[in-house]
Amino acid sequence: MAEITRDVLIVGAGAAGLTAANDLRKAGLSVAVLEARDRVGGRLWTDVIEGAMLEIGGQWVSPDQDALKETLEELGLSTYSRYREGESVYIGPSGELTRFTGDIFPVAPATEKIMVELIEKLDAMVAEIDPDRPWAHPNAEALDEVSFEQWLAVQTDDQEARDNIALFIAGAMLTKPAHAFSTLQALLMAASAGSFSNLVDADFILDERVIGGLQQVPLLLAERLGDDVLLNQPVRSLEWGPSTGSGTGGVTATTDDLTVRARFAILAHAPVLYNRISFVPPMPRRQQQLHQHLSMGFVIKVHAVYDRPFWREQGLSGTAFSPYELAHEAYDNTNHDDERGTLVGFVSDKHADGVFELSAEERKERILESLSHYYGPEAKSPVVYYESDWGSEEWTRGAYAASFDLGGLHRYGNDLRTPVGPIHFACSDLAGAGYQHVDGAIRMGHLVASDIVEASRT
Ligand code: FAD
Repeated sequence: MAEITRDVLIVGAGAAGLTAANDLRKAGLSVAVLEARDRVGGRLWTDVIEGAMLEIGGQWVSPDQDALKETLEELGLSTYSRYREGESVYIGPSGELTRFTGDIFPVAPATEKIMVELIEKLDAMVAEIDPDRPWAHPNAEALDEVSFEQWLAVQTDDQEARDNIALFIAGAMLTKPAHAFSTLQALLMAASAGSFSNLVDADFILDERVIGGLQQVPLLLAERLGDDVLLNQPVRSLEWGPSTGSGTGGVTATTDDLTVRARFAILAHAPVLYNRISFVPPMPRRQQQLHQHLSMGFVIKVHAVYDRPFWREQGLSGTAFSPYELAHEAYDNTNHDDERGTLVGFVSDKHADGVFELSAEERKERILESLSHYYGPEAKSPVVYYESDWGSEEWTRGAYAASFDLGGLHRYGNDLRTPVGPIHFACSDLAGAGYQHVDGAIRMGHLVASDIVEASRT
C-alpha cells in the first residue's frame, strides 16, 4: 500500500473540498484531496448525453451568492441569464392552465391575498433568523417541533394557498414533503437565500448559468492542485488522535490502496456519508447521534431537448409551476448559443418515489405527459431525454442536499461544524448563507480552511 504525508487531507473533491484545498495551499500548507469517484465535482457534473450538453447536478447562480460569484470571477468564468421573456404558466388544483407574469401565481383574488400575507409573514420571521445560528432564535425549539405543513394549516384553511407556499420550500428546495421538516428548517432555507420572497422569485433564485457549465468551478480548482487530487480513492477508514495541549493528534486515512497521514482532515462531503467511513476511535456520542438526524431530500432533474425552443413561439418563457403536477416546476434551460431548446423539469419527494416504481419507458411517458400540460403536445417528443437520478449515486444518495428531521435542527445544529479533534467538516449541507447551494459549499470551504490555518499555528 502506497503512503503519503501532508499537512491536511481532504475527503471529497466537490466545491467545498477543492475550495478549502486551494486556500490551504495558498496559506503554505500541503494537501491531498481524496475523491471516491473517477471525476471531481461531486454534485456538479456537466456531461454530453446523445450530443446534448447537460448539467446533471447544480447549475444556477443567484445574485446574493457572493462567494460563488467571487470564485467565478477569479476563475475567469462567464455567466448568461436564464431565458425569461414571455409568460409563465400555472396549473391549478382542477387542472386549469393560466398564463401569468410576475411572481404571484394567478390564483383567485382571495387566495392571492392569503398567499401575499403568508409571504410577508414568512419574510418577517426569516428576518429574525441568523442563517448561521437558527437555533439561537428565541422560539427555535417551538418552531423546530412543528412541521411546515402543520404551521401552514394553522395559518389558513385555503388549501391552494397552503399548497403553493409549501411548494417553494418543500418540492422546490428541501425536496421532502412539508410534513417531514420543521418550520425552523423552512425558515433556515429561506434565510440562507436572503428572504422567503427570494425563493418565490424564480428570476432571483434561478438567475444565471455559467457558460460551459458550473462543473468548471471544481474542474478548474482541481487543475490548480494537480497531482494532489487523487481520484478513485474512497476513504474507508480514518484513524485520529484527540487534540492535546501541544497540538493535534493527527489523522491517517486509508483507501483501498493508499494511506495518507496528515495533521488535519476535512470531511468535505454530504453528512449522510460520514457513516461510510470507519472512525478509529469512533466519533464522539454527540456526532454519532446528530449525524443520524440528517437525511437527503430526493428530486429527479429531468432534461428534455427539442430541435428548437418551441414554447417561445407561443410567447411562453418556459417557466411553469404547479403543486398538482408530477413535474412541479419547469424552466427553459436552453444552453448558451444553442439552436436547440431544452426544458428542465423537477419531480420531487414522494412523486419521485412513485415514478421509480414504473419502468423507465412508463416513467418517461408520465413525466413528458406532465410537461405537455404546461407546453402542449410537442413537449412529448424530445430528441434527447435524460433523468438525473442522484438517489442511485453511491457517493451522494439524494438531491439536492441534507436537512434535519423534526426537532433536529435546534437540538443538534450548533454542533454540525464543531471539529472533532483534528477532523473538520465542510459541505454545502452545513452552510448558513448558501445552504444547499454551491455558494454555501464554497463558503464552508473558505471557513474550514481559515480555521485550520489558525489551528496549525498553535
Ligand atoms: P459534493 O458536491 O457532494 O462533493 C462531495 C464529494 O465527496 C463528492 O465528489 C463525493 O464523491 C466525495 N466523497 C463522498 N464520500 C467520500 C469518501 N468516503 N471518500 C472520498 N470521497 C468521498 N446548487 C446551486 O447552487 N445551484 C443549483 O442550481 C443547484 N441545483 C442542483 C441540482 C441537483 C440535481 C443537485 C444534485 C444539486 C444541486 N445544487 C445546486 C446543489 C449543489 O450542487 C451542492 O450543494 C454542491 O455542489 C455541494 O458541494 P459539496 O462540495 O458540499 O459536496
